[in-house]
Amino acid sequence: MSSLLDKIDHLGIAVKSVSEGYRVFPLAFGLKPHKFEEVPEQKVKVAFYKVGDSNLEFLEPTSEESPIAKFIAKRGEGIHHICFKVNDIYQALENLKNDGYRLIDEKPKIGAENKLVAFLHPKDANGVLIELSQSQG
Ligand code: ZN
Repeated sequence: MSSLLDKIDHLGIAVKSVSEGYRVFPLAFGLKPHKFEEVPEQKVKVAFYKVGDSNLEFLEPTSEESPIAKFIAKRGEGIHHICFKVNDIYQALENLKNDGYRLIDEKPKIGAENKLVAFLHPKDANGVLIELSQSQG
């Protein structure tokens, strides 16, 4: 059986600010954000940096209630999640559930770039918060 994972789509990095002028390491490598986006559903502002075929997503909380705000309060800035691109997110979630994995999102929701996204519980993924993402259309 082939893997449901297509590739690593992006790394999510929690930061206090994504505004220009805020010191983030991609700038030191000559990378500039190619896009900014606000995702109200997840209470974040996102800056996208393209690295080859993948992305870095810098995530800034827009509310104290944002999971990113809670993450930074507890652990400081840093890597927040790894996102895998999948071709069939519904099938992937069903397989995980049938295998006993805990899902944060039982059903996909709309994430940045209008993609379908769902998170898997880090307790069942070696401490790593994993996001699955599928492009629409
Ligand atoms: Zn993400």
